[in-house]
Amino acid sequence: MITSNAPWMSEDHIQLADMTRRFFAAEMTPNIQRWCKQGVVDRKFWLKAGELGLLGASMPELYGGSGGDFGYDFVIFIEQARTGDSGWGIGVHSIVSHYIVNCGTEEQKERWLPKLISGEMVGAIAMTEPGAGSDLQGIRTTAKANGDDLVLNGSKTFITNGQSAELIIVVTKTDPSQGAKGTSLVVLETEGAEGFRRGRNLEKIGMKAQDTSELFFDNVRIPRTNLLGGIEGKGFFQLMQEFSYERMMCGVSALGSCELALSETVRYVRERKAFDRHLMEFQNTRFKLAECKTKLEVMRAFVNQATEELLAGQLDSVKASMVKLWTSETLGEIIDECLQLFGGYGYMLEYPIARLYVDSRVTRIFGGTSEIQKEIIARSLDSD
Ligand SMILES: Cc1cc2nc3c(=O)[nH]c(=O)nc-3n(C[C@H](O)[C@H](O)[C@H](O)COP(=O)(O)OP(=O)(O)OC[C@H]3O[C@@H](n4cnc5c(N)ncnc54)[C@H](O)[C@@H]3O)c2cc1C
Repeated sequence: MITSNAPWMSEDHIQLADMTRRFFAAEMTPNIQRWCKQGVVDRKFWLKAGELGLLGASMPELYGGSGGDFGYDFVIFIEQARTGDSGWGIGVHSIVSHYIVNCGTEEQKERWLPKLISGEMVGAIAMTEPGAGSDLQGIRTTAKANGDDLVLNGSKTFITNGQSAELIIVVTKTDPSQGAKGTSLVVLETEGAEGFRRGRNLEKIGMKAQDTSELFFDNVRIPRTNLLGGIEGKGFFQLMQEFSYERMMCGVSALGSCELALSETVRYVRERKAFDRHLMEFQNTRFKLAECKTKLEVMRAFVNQATEELLAGQLDSVKASMVKLWTSETLGEIIDECLQLFGGYGYMLEYPIARLYVDSRVTRIFGGTSEIQKEIIARSLDSD
């Protein structure tokens, strides 16, 4: 069992980590294979997690949360990654709650946060469209004013929690002539929303237990009061404000996945024999694992340093991009080396290392691709 604690963790973080680990061992680990087969995490798991306080760990107590800092969420993300589960969309759900708490009006917070915190509502955020992913300014979904309503038209794809979500933050153009300034975030409550349709639960190479879907909006009427923050044209600003949290979340999860990959591999090479010797006795095995362990510790130091800066309100967006870039690329390198040491068994999905291999590939793509992170980092060179 992997239990190492980070220097930024207080006694409360450590207690939350212990409780989360026990909950996941009882309610998540035994179900991962089944969730992969059914393509979605059980709905009741969300409610149990809500009851335990895992969905509102960093949300204000006023709305039913635990009032913790970002570190509370990170503790949960890292424990999830350490189990090898990639299906439960807590990361996206938590991003959605953060959008509402940071950008929403008081009325919106009171209306949606308690339900997101209890698990009564699952959250999703819909930015990507078939024709626009990295280039978010190119989105074509519109929300046009009509009386007291906004009328939503368009489609989204690759949306995490797409089949489960009851509350979806949709990135729209309220004024397509204004480019970024005409972008607004609109909150759709899916229950009874006429003209809203979920597409397929997409077939992915990995993250089999995660429901990732297309969404369609055909003249969906949403009250204007569902405009996040109550003001049009603030969408891009709101997105930029929340990206650092999302990128750090990717970094923290990558760290947990690397720990799992390494511990599983060390266990395997100690047991498996070839040429009458344990694999661990070959110098190649020892050197490869020594390299992986070194990379893991460098990753840990960087993630912890950036987390401390985030907790102190000092993390800049460029460093958050560096965390996303470095952890997701290094995660790929470490898992690839580890899988090699499993030989043919590393290619079998019943082994966690095989699942980690396919699951982790997407971390270089979602939440802003590695190339987009490099663009952001490179831009900062111009002001150096
Ligand atoms: C499993 C999964 C879950 C996801 N969950 C969500 C979600 O919940 N919500 C959501 O909105 N989206 C989600 N996405 C979408 C994801 O964020 C996008 O796939 C990603 O942003 C890339 O967009 P794209 O697929 O359109 O690729 P494109 O933007 O078409 O990029 C294709 C390639 O071109 C490169 N490229 C693009 N622009 C540049 C540039 N300026 N310079 C250099 N290279 C460039 C990219 O890096 C990439 O290699 C998810 C995707 C996956 C696979």
